[in-house]
Amino acid sequence: FERAELQELDKKHFLHPTSSIEQLQEQGPTFIFAEGQGIYLKDMDGRTVIDGLSSLWNVNMGHGRQELGVAAMEQMSSLGFSSCFANFSHEPVIRLAAKIAQLTPGDLNTTFFTSGGSESNDTAFKIVRHYWILKGQPEKKKIISRKKSYHGVAMGATSATGLKPFRDFTNSLAPDFYYVDSFLPESLRDMIEKEDPDTIAAYIAEPVQGTGGVLPAPKEYFKEVQKICDEYNILFIADEVITGFGRTGKYFGIEHYGVTPDLMSIAKGITSGYIPLGGVVLSERIHQELIELSSGMFLHGYTYSGHPVACAVALKNLELIERERAVENARTMGTHMLKGFERLQQKHEMVGEVRGLGLMGAIELVKDKTTNERFAQPAAPMVVSEAMKRGLICRGVLYEGADTLVFAPPLIITEQQIEEMIDILHDSLTAVGKEIGL
Ligand code: PLP
Repeated sequence: FERAELQELDKKHFLHPTSSIEQLQEQGPTFIFAEGQGIYLKDMDGRTVIDGLSSLWNVNMGHGRQELGVAAMEQMSSLGFSSCFANFSHEPVIRLAAKIAQLTPGDLNTTFFTSGGSESNDTAFKIVRHYWILKGQPEKKKIISRKKSYHGVAMGATSATGLKPFRDFTNSLAPDFYYVDSFLPESLRDMIEKEDPDTIAAYIAEPVQGTGGVLPAPKEYFKEVQKICDEYNILFIADEVITGFGRTGKYFGIEHYGVTPDLMSIAKGITSGYIPLGGVVLSERIHQELIELSSGMFLHGYTYSGHPVACAVALKNLELIERERAVENARTMGTHMLKGFERLQQKHEMVGEVRGLGLMGAIELVKDKTTNERFAQPAAPMVVSEAMKRGLICRGVLYEGADTLVFAPPLIITEQQIEEMIDILHDSLTAVGKEIGL
């Protein structure tokens, strides 16, 4: 197929996920990607770009990893699919569940598998509510999340998402979801008191909010939050869909905060995105109570819960992470990336706060550094577009008045490649600065 033909077919037949329908109808897809290698993606015309967001914060071990393809092929050739419902199982799912238990902090030891982050969060909400039914407290059903959070697009996940535009997409959300300030533990306490602790099932949070604009929680935040959850008998769900498997320079984002949640949602980086897979990891305590209290069926399961091919790819991907010391690399390269951002801050009037944890980073764009005043028209889309022309994909975040650039390159990135990113950003910021007359 020629590019023009593909573009027309795309416009007519493909409804893109999370996209501007208007822009797509006018311009068609910007890139029609054909291959990838390491941190680079190449489109059908041979244009090469740095995948500065690891596609969707997920291609953690980079593109073109043949070993992952071989793992999938071998598994498909021996057992492409078999059910995990009822009393059926298979080796890849058992080995992966055991591996996750080894990697996750504390007593998070038992995994329920899904095919992605949204399913993981919906599953977590159903499990905590089921747990309270078993405990004889069925009125404990409310879920509290944070205002700048993103938890996905399934019905429960959308309802839990604090970023309002995602909720406004539809006109009937799931009931019993509440939102508190993202950084103030007292806001959680106030909401619990107001809503009555006996009606609250769980609190969910991303250790570093990703879609909201790479917002790490303050150092002591989760310790305070855990105390509050314990005090009011509320379960704590960590959404590690982005932050899991090395992204922040530790295996899991919550490890930076010295607490262990009751449940953990995972997805994305577990397979580096090569095949859909997610899960909810339960603490030993929750799992034991489910075993002891359960009398009927556990009536929750997806056809693809524990897909053997996805599990085989995940096992190989986790092996690569370990073998290539990708978590350590994320930590050291994260420091380099942040230093690069700080250099940009010195050179460019429009670069305000810069921040990051491991290989999640953000640059705030401001009209005035001293007052943090924003541009009337956000500058992030312009910088993103200039960067793309120069060979770097990154994302602009504009929710709730933000004007932020966010980055999450593959964990295998090198120092030289970080410099390549920073150089492109420097040129792009210079071009935008000229355009808006700075
Ligand atoms: N939770 C978080 C923190 C996410 O960032 C995302 C996706 O970006 C999700 C959940 C939803 O995951 P998925 O898109 O795989 O359904």
